[in-house]
Amino acid sequence: MRTVILGAGESGVGAAVLAQKQGAEVFVSDSGHIGEPYKQMLERYGIAWEEGGHTAQRVLAADEVVKSPGIPDTAPMVAALRERRVPIISEIELAGRYTDARMICITGSNGKTTTTSLIHHILQKAGMNYGLAGNIGRSLAYQVAEAPRPGYVIELSSFQLDNMYDFRADVAVLLNITPDHLDRYGFCMQNYVDAKMRILRNQGPDDTFVFWQGDEYVGRELRKYPASRRLCPFADSPEAGAVGYADGDTFRITAPVAFSMPLAELSLPGRHNLRNSLAAALAALSAGAPAGAVRAGLADFPGVEHRLERVCDVNGVHYVNDSKATNVDACRWALESMTTPVVLILGGKDKGNDYAEVLPLVRQKCRALVYLGADNAKLHAAFDDLHLPVADTHSMADCVEAAAALARPGDTVLLSPCCASFDLFHNMEDRGEQFKERVRERLA
Ligand code: ADP
Repeated sequence: MRTVILGAGESGVGAAVLAQKQGAEVFVSDSGHIGEPYKQMLERYGIAWEEGGHTAQRVLAADEVVKSPGIPDTAPMVAALRERRVPIISEIELAGRYTDARMICITGSNGKTTTTSLIHHILQKAGMNYGLAGNIGRSLAYQVAEAPRPGYVIELSSFQLDNMYDFRADVAVLLNITPDHLDRYGFCMQNYVDAKMRILRNQGPDDTFVFWQGDEYVGRELRKYPASRRLCPFADSPEAGAVGYADGDTFRITAPVAFSMPLAELSLPGRHNLRNSLAAALAALSAGAPAGAVRAGLADFPGVEHRLERVCDVNGVHYVNDSKATNVDACRWALESMTTPVVLILGGKDKGNDYAEVLPLVRQKCRALVYLGADNAKLHAAFDDLHLPVADTHSMADCVEAAAALARPGDTVLLSPCCASFDLFHNMEDRGEQFKERVRERLA
C-alpha cells in the first residue's frame, strides 16, 4: 500500500505516523514549508518527505492519499488525483479504521472548541479516559498510533468532515450552521451544510445525535437522514421535542437521563454558552458520565483561553479576555453576557465591519470605550455619537492603563475587539496574552 500524505501539519504528520505503523509505504509532500518539529518527527520515524512543491510522479503513484484539511479541492495536485480516481481521505477517516474507541464528535460554525473542551473536562471529572483531538492538541491519528485510549472527544471542522466516508461517531454534536468558509464550497451554502451534516454518516440505532433545535438548517436537513439514531435536540427554553433547555432558573435535561442544576451555577456566561453547556451535558450523559460529574464539570470549567476568559480582579474591577472575538457578532455575544457595567476595548484590523449590530448593546451596557488599533478613525465614526467617555490608544500598555482609569469597582473591563489583531499584534493569541500580562502587572 503506497500512502501519500498531502500537507505536513499536525494532522498530516499524525496520519503519516499511523499509516507507517500499519505497514504502508508512506511519502509526505507539502507545497509549503514544513515546521521544524514536524520535520524532526518525520525523520525520527524514518518517513520520506518533501517540501516546497509536490513531485507529481510520486504523488500520483499513490494507492491512497490522506489530504490535510487546509488544502482546498481546487489545488492542482488534488484535481490531478481526482482525475486519476485516486481515493482521497481525511486523517480522521484513516484514524477511524484502526481503533474501536468511542468517538464523541463536535462540529458547528461557532462554539466547537468551547464545547469540545467542556465535554472533555466533564469526562475527566467522571474519571473516563478520553483523549482530546481534532483541531485541538495532538491529531487523532497520532494518538491512535502512539497513545491509544478507549475514547476520544474530537473537534471536527467542515474540512475534516469533507473526506470522511466510513468513520462513525458514537455521539455526534452539531451546534449550529451559519455561513462560513463559503469560498471553499463553491460559494454555495448547501455544499457547506452538506459537509456539516456528514457528521451523521454511518450512525446506527445505538448512536446519538445532539443538535440545537433552533438552527435554521439542521432540523430541515435531518429529514433527509433515516431516523434510526437517538435524537437529542436542545433549545434555549422549553420547546416541544427538546430534551435540554433553560427552564426558568433551572438547567434541565429530560433524556437520555433526567438531570437538572441551577442555571446560576454554570461557569460559562451568555446565551451562546448556555447552548454549548446543554450540548456538552447531553453528549457527556449519552456517553455514560454520571450526573455528579456533569454538574461539577459544568460548574467549574475554567473556559478556553481568549474566549470570554476571566483574567483576574484588580481594585474590584473584573478583567475579561475575549481576544478571539475577531468579528462584530462575537463581540455582540460577549456584551450580551455581561452583567456589570463594561469598559469595552475594541479595535484592530477592520474586516469591513458594520458596527450598527452592536450599537444598542454598547449604549445599554458600556460605561466607557477604549479604542486599540493602529488606526481608530472608523471606531470614532461609529461610536463617538454615543457620547461615552473614550480613550484612543495604540498599544496594549496604554490601553490597559486607560481602561483601568475609566473603570469603577464592580465594572468589567472587556477586551472583545470586533477586529483582527494583525495591525498591532502577531495574532489574536498574542493580543490576549499581552492583555493578560498587562492586567496582572497591575496586581503587583
Ligand atoms: P470555534 O471553535 O467553532 O471557532 P469557539 O468555541 O472558539 O468556536 O468560540 C468562538 C466564538 O464563537 C466565541 O468567542 C463566541 O463569540 C462564539 N460562539 C461560541 N459558541 C457559540 C454558539 N453556540 N453559538 C454562536 N456563537 C458562539
